[in-house]
Amino acid sequence: MTPPEIPETLETLRRVFGYDAFRDGQREIIDHVVGGGDALVLMPTGGGKSLCYQIPALVRKGTGVVISPLIALMQDQVDALRTAGVRAGFLNSTQDIDERRVVEAEFAAGELDLLYLAPERLRLGATVELLDRGDVSLFAIDEAHCVSQWGHDFRPDYLMLSGLHERWPDVPRIALTATATEATRREIAARLRLEDARHFVASFDRPNIQYRIEPKTDAKRQLLRLLQTEHKGDAGIVYCLSRNSVEKHAAFLTENGIEALPYHAGLDARTRAANQARFLREDGLVIVATIAFGMGIDKPDVRFVAHLDLPKSVEGYYQETGRAGRDGLPSTAWLAYGLQDVVNLRKMIDGGEGDAAHRRRQAQHLDAMLALCETVECRRVRLLDYFGQSGEPCGNCDTCLNPPETWDATVAAQKVLSVIVRLDRERRQKFGAGHIIDILLGKKSAKVIQFDHDSLKPFGVGADLREAEWRGVIRQLLAQGLVAVESDHGTLVQTDASGDVLRGERKVMMRREPERAATKAAKTAKAAKAPIDLPEEAVPVFERLRAWRAATAKEQGVPAYVIFHDATLREIATALPSSLAELGRVNGVGENKLAKYGEQVLETLAAPE
Ligand code: ADP
Ligand code: ZN
Repeated sequence: MTPPEIPETLETLRRVFGYDAFRDGQREIIDHVVGGGDALVLMPTGGGKSLCYQIPALVRKGTGVVISPLIALMQDQVDALRTAGVRAGFLNSTQDIDERRVVEAEFAAGELDLLYLAPERLRLGATVELLDRGDVSLFAIDEAHCVSQWGHDFRPDYLMLSGLHERWPDVPRIALTATATEATRREIAARLRLEDARHFVASFDRPNIQYRIEPKTDAKRQLLRLLQTEHKGDAGIVYCLSRNSVEKHAAFLTENGIEALPYHAGLDARTRAANQARFLREDGLVIVATIAFGMGIDKPDVRFVAHLDLPKSVEGYYQETGRAGRDGLPSTAWLAYGLQDVVNLRKMIDGGEGDAAHRRRQAQHLDAMLALCETVECRRVRLLDYFGQSGEPCGNCDTCLNPPETWDATVAAQKVLSVIVRLDRERRQKFGAGHIIDILLGKKSAKVIQFDHDSLKPFGVGADLREAEWRGVIRQLLAQGLVAVESDHGTLVQTDASGDVLRGERKVMMRREPERAATKAAKTAKAAKAPIDLPEEAVPVFERLRAWRAATAKEQGVPAYVIFHDATLREIATALPSSLAELGRVNGVGENKLAKYGEQVLETLAAPE
C-alpha cells in the first residue's frame, strides 16, 4: 500500500519552514490562494499571517509580490526567508540603483519566489513595467489596514492598490491585517476592491499571553518588580505615552541593571534605527517606546509587553500586546493604570482636534478600554468579545487566576458626588481628585484651609477608606461615567447619571482593589510557566546553543531568531538529537537550515561542558 500523499502545501511547510502542522486557519487560506482565489485575512498579531502568502508563493508558478509599508524590516524578512532557502528579494528606497538592478534582473528571469515592494514603488511606471516583464503568482497586501482612513497608519499609497485587479485580473490577491473590527474590515474590502474575496477571520485568541492589568501605585517600582521576578534576562517592550516618560524609564531600568533602549519620534532617525536593530538582533534587550514602535516587528521571542500608560483603545492595546510571544511560549501582557491616566485621556479627547463625531468615537474607544480594565470577568473573554468572538474563562489572566471581589460602592460614590455637588452649589468651585480626597478624608491641607473647605458638610465623611481606595473609587466613577473630567484643569464634575446615584436610585458596584493580587498573580504566573520551562539539566545546553546562535547571527549580520527561534533551541536542548536525521525532526528545523547549521548544532551539543 502506498502511503497517503502529502499535499504540496504541507510538504512545503515541513521541508522549508520545518513546522509539523498548520495553525488554526492557515490551511484553508493557503488552499484558497493556491487555487487562485482572492482573500481578505484577519488574524491577530503573531497568528501566522506570513505563511499564508509565502507558501502559496512557493507552490504557485512565478513570483509572489508582497506589498508592505515596513521598509525598515524588509532586509530582515528577506534574510529570514533566504536562510530557510527561499529565493526572496526586495525593492525599496533604501537601496542604491545597482542593488535594485540585481533584484529586478532576478525577478525578470523568474529567479525569485518572493519579491517585497514598498507601496510607493507601484506609483512608478518602471515598477509596473517590471512586473509585466516577470510572472506574478500572487499579490499579498500586508498591513492592509493602512488603506483605512480611520487607522493611525493610513498611507495614501495604499489607495492605489485598488488598481491591481484591473491591471492583473488573473493574479490572486490576498490582503492581511490584524485590525479586526467589522467596520475596518468592510472599509478594507471596499477600498481594495475585495468585496468578492473570501473573508477569513481567525480566532483572535492568543492563549500563551497572560493578560494582567493592575492599579498604578508606583509605576517604576511595579515595572521593576515584574521584570526582576518574572522576566529576568528576557526581551520585552515597555510602552509609554510620552517621549519624556520613555527616556525616564529607559534610564531607570538601565540604572537598575536591566539594559533598556529608548525609542520615540524625538530621537534622530539613525539612533532610532540602531536601537530597533539592536533590539531585534541581540538577546534579552528591553526597548522602552512610544506606540510608534513595533508595527511589523516579527521578533518571535518578545516575552513581555508592559504598558505604563493606559492605551487609547482596545484595538491598540491588543495590537501592542500581540507583539509578545509570537513563538507560542508563555508571555506576559501587563498594564498598570491609574486615576491620572483616565483624567489625562479624557482631557486629551475633549481638548483634542477633530469634530464632535470624532471625539465621540474616541470617547467610545476609551470607554471600552476602561471597561476592560475594570472588569471582574475574564480579561480574555472581554477582549474576544470586543472582536465579536466568544470564549470561555481562560485560566490565564489576572482575573481568572485571582478573581477580584466586587463591592457595593453606592455609599462611597454618594460621598464623592456630594463633595462635588456642594463645592459647585455652595461655592461655585470645582477641584481635581486630590483635593476632593483631602476633603473626604478630613485632611486640613493648606488648600483646605485656604478655601475654608473644612466647614463643608461632607468634610471628613470618608475616613472609612484610605487615600488609595478613594483614588480607586474616583477612577471607577470616571470609568463608569458617573463623574466627568472637565478639560484643561482636570477638575471633576457631575454627569447626567450622577443624580440617580445621589438619589439612591442607582446601585454602584465596583471592583475591589486587590491588594495582594499582584504578588499572588505573579506566583501563579510562574507556576503556570513551569511546564514548558526547561528542565534544570537542559539549561546549560540551551545557553550553549544560544551562545552559538549569537555568534553565528553576528557573523552573518542577521537577527538571532533568523537562525533558530528560542522555541526550536529549547526543543533541541531537551531532545538532544544525536544525528542530523533526529535534528531534522525538531520543530523549526527545515531542510535548508539543517544543511546549513546541522553539523554545528550537533557539535555544540557534543562540546564538553
Ligand atoms: P503575524 O504576521 O500574523 O503577526 P507571523 O507570520 O510573523 O505572524 O508568525 C508568527 C510566528 O509564528 C512566526 O515566528 C512564525 O514562524 C510562527 N508560525 C507561523 N505558522 C506556524 C506554524 N504552522 N507552526 C509553527 N510556527 C508557526
Ligand atoms: Zn481569563
